[in-house]
Amino acid sequence: MLGFVLTMLLFPVNPTFTHAQVIKSGPPSCPGVALTFDLCPVRNGTGYDQTLIDYLIEQKIPATFFMSGKWIAKHDQQVKALLQIPFFEVGTHGEVHAHMPFQSEEEQKQEILGPVRLFKTKYSHNATLFRPPYGEFNDDTVNVARALGLQFILWNVVSGDPDPTLTASQIEGRLKRFVQKGSVIVMHANGKGQHTHEVVQDLHQHLLPERRLTPMTVSELLSCGQTAP
Ligand SMILES: [Zn+2]
Repeated sequence: MLGFVLTMLLFPVNPTFTHAQVIKSGPPSCPGVALTFDLCPVRNGTGYDQTLIDYLIEQKIPATFFMSGKWIAKHDQQVKALLQIPFFEVGTHGEVHAHMPFQSEEEQKQEILGPVRLFKTKYSHNATLFRPPYGEFNDDTVNVARALGLQFILWNVVSGDPDPTLTASQIEGRLKRFVQKGSVIVMHANGKGQHTHEVVQDLHQHLLPERRLTPMTVSELLSCGQTAP
Protein backbone atom coordinates (compact mmCIF):
# COMPACT_ATOMS: atom_id res chain seq x y z
CA MET A 1 0.00 0.00 0.00
CA LEU A 2 2.75 2.42 0.99
CA GLY A 3 4.57 1.56 -2.21
CA PHE A 4 1.46 2.30 -4.19
CA VAL A 5 0.96 5.65 -2.46
CA LEU A 6 4.59 6.57 -3.06
CA THR A 7 4.28 5.62 -6.70
CA MET A 8 1.23 7.81 -7.02
CA LEU A 9 3.06 10.69 -5.37
CA LEU A 10 6.20 10.34 -7.41
CA PHE A 11 4.62 9.54 -10.74
CA PRO A 12 1.32 11.38 -11.00
CA VAL A 13 0.74 10.06 -14.53
CA ASN A 14 -2.93 9.68 -13.76
CA PRO A 15 -3.95 12.92 -12.12
CA THR A 16 -7.51 12.88 -10.85
CA PHE A 17 -10.09 12.99 -13.57
CA THR A 18 -11.11 16.46 -12.49
CA HIS A 19 -7.71 18.01 -12.81
CA ALA A 20 -7.08 16.47 -16.19
CA GLN A 21 -9.95 18.61 -17.50
CA VAL A 22 -8.71 21.90 -16.13
CA ILE A 23 -6.31 23.70 -18.42
CA LYS A 24 -3.88 26.15 -16.86
CA SER A 25 -1.23 26.42 -19.56
CA GLY A 26 -0.16 25.31 -23.01
CA PRO A 27 2.61 22.85 -23.86
CA PRO A 28 5.82 23.82 -22.04
CA SER A 29 7.72 23.45 -25.31
CA CYS A 30 5.53 25.99 -27.11
CA PRO A 31 7.26 29.35 -27.74
CA GLY A 32 3.97 31.14 -27.19
CA VAL A 33 1.84 32.68 -24.47
CA ALA A 34 -1.86 33.43 -24.28
CA LEU A 35 -2.91 36.91 -23.21
CA THR A 36 -6.38 36.41 -21.77
CA PHE A 37 -8.79 39.14 -20.71
CA ASP A 38 -11.83 38.59 -18.53
CA LEU A 39 -14.90 40.70 -19.11
CA CYS A 40 -16.55 40.35 -15.73
CA PRO A 41 -19.65 42.48 -15.06
CA VAL A 42 -18.91 45.90 -13.54
CA ARG A 43 -21.19 48.18 -11.53
CA ASN A 44 -19.56 51.47 -12.45
CA GLY A 45 -17.82 52.84 -15.51
CA THR A 46 -18.01 51.76 -19.12
CA GLY A 47 -16.87 48.21 -18.41
CA TYR A 48 -14.70 48.37 -21.51
CA ASP A 49 -11.04 49.30 -21.82
CA GLN A 50 -11.15 50.87 -25.27
CA THR A 51 -7.51 52.01 -25.20
CA LEU A 52 -6.33 48.50 -24.47
CA ILE A 53 -8.50 46.92 -27.18
CA ASP A 54 -7.42 49.55 -29.72
CA TYR A 55 -3.80 48.78 -28.94
CA LEU A 56 -4.29 45.02 -29.35
CA ILE A 57 -6.01 45.60 -32.70
CA GLU A 58 -3.46 48.13 -34.00
CA GLN A 59 -0.57 45.88 -33.08
CA LYS A 60 -2.40 42.76 -34.29
CA ILE A 61 -1.83 41.00 -30.97
CA PRO A 62 -3.79 37.73 -30.66
CA ALA A 63 -5.87 37.70 -27.48
CA THR A 64 -8.64 35.72 -25.84
CA PHE A 65 -11.64 37.24 -24.08
CA PHE A 66 -13.87 35.56 -21.52
CA MET A 67 -17.24 37.34 -21.43
CA SER A 68 -19.86 37.05 -18.73
CA GLY A 69 -23.53 37.05 -19.73
CA LYS A 70 -24.25 40.22 -17.76
CA TRP A 71 -21.38 41.97 -19.48
CA ILE A 72 -22.52 40.82 -22.94
CA ALA A 73 -26.04 42.12 -22.28
CA LYS A 74 -24.66 45.63 -21.71
CA HIS A 75 -22.06 45.64 -24.49
CA ASP A 76 -23.70 44.56 -27.71
CA GLN A 77 -21.58 46.80 -29.96
CA GLN A 78 -18.36 45.79 -28.25
CA VAL A 79 -19.22 42.09 -28.48
CA LYS A 80 -19.82 42.46 -32.22
CA ALA A 81 -16.58 44.41 -32.64
CA LEU A 82 -14.49 41.84 -30.76
CA LEU A 83 -16.05 38.91 -32.63
CA GLN A 84 -15.02 40.50 -35.92
CA ILE A 85 -11.31 40.57 -35.18
CA PRO A 86 -9.80 37.46 -36.77
CA PHE A 87 -6.94 37.19 -34.27
CA PHE A 88 -9.21 37.40 -31.22
CA GLU A 89 -10.86 34.40 -29.61
CA VAL A 90 -13.98 34.72 -27.47
CA GLY A 91 -15.11 32.38 -24.71
CA THR A 92 -17.53 32.68 -21.78
CA HIS A 93 -17.22 33.51 -18.11
CA GLY A 94 -20.54 32.58 -16.48
CA GLU A 95 -23.83 34.47 -16.57
CA VAL A 96 -23.75 36.63 -13.42
CA HIS A 97 -20.18 35.88 -12.23
CA ALA A 98 -21.39 33.52 -9.51
CA HIS A 99 -19.25 31.73 -6.95
CA MET A 100 -19.60 28.25 -8.48
CA PRO A 101 -18.69 26.06 -5.49
CA PHE A 102 -21.64 27.52 -3.55
CA GLN A 103 -24.11 26.48 -6.24
CA SER A 104 -25.90 23.23 -7.00
CA GLU A 105 -25.00 21.33 -10.14
CA GLU A 106 -28.15 22.58 -11.88
CA GLU A 107 -27.47 26.19 -10.87
CA GLN A 108 -23.93 25.87 -12.19
CA LYS A 109 -25.25 24.50 -15.46
CA GLN A 110 -27.51 27.53 -15.91
CA GLU A 111 -24.70 29.91 -14.90
CA ILE A 112 -22.38 28.35 -17.49
CA LEU A 113 -25.00 28.03 -20.22
CA GLY A 114 -26.34 31.61 -20.08
CA PRO A 115 -23.70 33.31 -22.22
CA VAL A 116 -23.07 30.17 -24.31
CA ARG A 117 -26.74 30.25 -25.42
CA LEU A 118 -26.69 34.00 -25.94
CA PHE A 119 -23.66 33.73 -28.21
CA LYS A 120 -25.34 31.03 -30.26
CA THR A 121 -28.73 32.69 -30.65
CA LYS A 122 -27.79 36.35 -30.90
CA TYR A 123 -24.30 36.30 -32.42
CA SER A 124 -24.15 32.92 -34.20
CA HIS A 125 -20.93 32.31 -32.31
CA ASN A 126 -19.99 28.92 -30.95
CA ALA A 127 -18.12 29.70 -27.72
CA THR A 128 -16.28 26.57 -26.65
CA LEU A 129 -13.89 28.02 -24.08
CA PHE A 130 -15.12 28.54 -20.53
CA ARG A 131 -13.43 30.20 -17.57
CA PRO A 132 -15.17 29.99 -14.18
CA PRO A 133 -15.71 33.30 -12.37
CA TYR A 134 -12.96 34.00 -9.80
CA GLY A 135 -11.29 30.81 -11.06
CA GLU A 136 -13.43 28.98 -8.49
CA PHE A 137 -14.84 25.55 -9.20
CA ASN A 138 -15.61 22.11 -7.83
CA ASP A 139 -16.09 18.69 -9.46
CA ASP A 140 -19.62 19.64 -10.59
CA THR A 141 -18.29 22.68 -12.47
CA VAL A 142 -15.80 20.55 -14.36
CA ASN A 143 -18.31 17.80 -15.09
CA VAL A 144 -20.99 20.22 -16.30
CA ALA A 145 -18.55 22.08 -18.55
CA ARG A 146 -17.31 18.83 -20.02
CA ALA A 147 -20.84 17.53 -20.60
CA LEU A 148 -21.58 20.77 -22.47
CA GLY A 149 -18.51 20.25 -24.64
CA LEU A 150 -16.64 23.24 -23.24
CA GLN A 151 -12.93 23.54 -22.61
CA PHE A 152 -12.18 24.57 -19.04
CA ILE A 153 -9.58 27.33 -19.11
CA LEU A 154 -7.83 28.74 -16.05
CA TRP A 155 -4.37 30.38 -16.09
CA ASN A 156 -0.93 29.90 -14.63
CA VAL A 157 0.17 33.54 -14.47
CA VAL A 158 -1.85 36.06 -12.43
CA SER A 159 -1.17 39.64 -13.49
CA GLY A 160 -3.07 41.04 -10.52
CA ASP A 161 -4.21 43.89 -12.78
CA PRO A 162 -7.52 44.67 -11.01
CA ASP A 163 -5.69 45.32 -7.73
CA PRO A 164 -5.72 49.13 -7.37
CA THR A 165 -2.74 49.04 -5.01
CA LEU A 166 -0.39 47.61 -7.65
CA THR A 167 1.64 49.91 -9.90
CA ALA A 168 2.32 49.07 -13.54
CA SER A 169 5.93 48.22 -12.74
CA GLN A 170 4.90 45.90 -9.92
CA ILE A 171 2.62 44.03 -12.32
CA GLU A 172 5.40 43.97 -14.93
CA GLY A 173 7.79 42.62 -12.32
CA ARG A 174 5.40 39.82 -11.53
CA LEU A 175 5.03 38.94 -15.21
CA LYS A 176 8.83 38.96 -15.63
CA ARG A 177 9.07 36.39 -12.87
CA PHE A 178 6.46 34.01 -14.16
CA VAL A 179 5.93 34.34 -17.91
CA GLN A 180 7.48 31.47 -19.84
CA LYS A 181 6.72 29.10 -22.71
CA GLY A 182 3.09 28.01 -22.70
CA SER A 183 1.94 30.58 -20.13
CA VAL A 184 -1.69 31.63 -19.90
CA ILE A 185 -1.84 35.11 -18.38
CA VAL A 186 -5.04 36.42 -16.80
CA MET A 187 -5.85 40.12 -17.13
CA HIS A 188 -8.99 42.26 -17.45
CA ALA A 189 -10.43 44.30 -20.31
CA ASN A 190 -13.45 45.63 -18.41
CA GLY A 191 -11.67 48.74 -17.18
CA LYS A 192 -10.88 47.22 -13.77
CA GLY A 193 -7.21 47.11 -14.61
CA GLN A 194 -5.91 50.64 -14.37
CA HIS A 195 -2.52 49.67 -15.82
CA THR A 196 -3.49 46.81 -18.10
CA HIS A 197 -2.87 48.78 -21.30
CA GLU A 198 0.56 49.92 -20.10
CA VAL A 199 1.48 46.40 -19.00
CA VAL A 200 0.38 44.84 -22.29
CA GLN A 201 2.43 47.44 -24.16
CA ASP A 202 5.47 46.50 -22.08
CA LEU A 203 4.85 42.79 -22.67
CA HIS A 204 4.51 43.31 -26.42
CA GLN A 205 7.48 45.63 -26.81
CA HIS A 206 9.92 44.14 -24.31
CA LEU A 207 9.25 41.00 -22.31
CA LEU A 208 7.81 38.77 -25.05
CA PRO A 209 10.35 39.64 -27.79
CA GLU A 210 13.22 39.38 -25.28
CA ARG A 211 12.10 35.85 -24.41
CA ARG A 212 11.23 35.01 -28.02
CA LEU A 213 7.64 34.33 -27.05
CA THR A 214 4.74 34.94 -29.43
CA PRO A 215 1.25 35.89 -28.28
CA MET A 216 -1.34 33.33 -29.35
CA THR A 217 -5.02 32.73 -28.71
CA VAL A 218 -5.80 30.01 -26.17
CA SER A 219 -6.82 27.54 -28.90
CA GLU A 220 -3.61 28.23 -30.83
CA LEU A 221 -1.57 27.77 -27.69
CA LEU A 222 -3.26 24.48 -26.85
CA SER A 223 -2.60 23.04 -30.32
CA CYS A 224 0.88 24.58 -30.49
CA GLY A 225 3.49 22.12 -31.76
CA GLN A 226 0.89 19.53 -32.66
CA THR A 227 0.55 20.42 -36.31
CA ALA A 228 3.32 20.36 -38.89
CA PRO A 229 4.29 23.83 -40.15
ZN1 LIG B 1 -14.22 37.46 -13.72
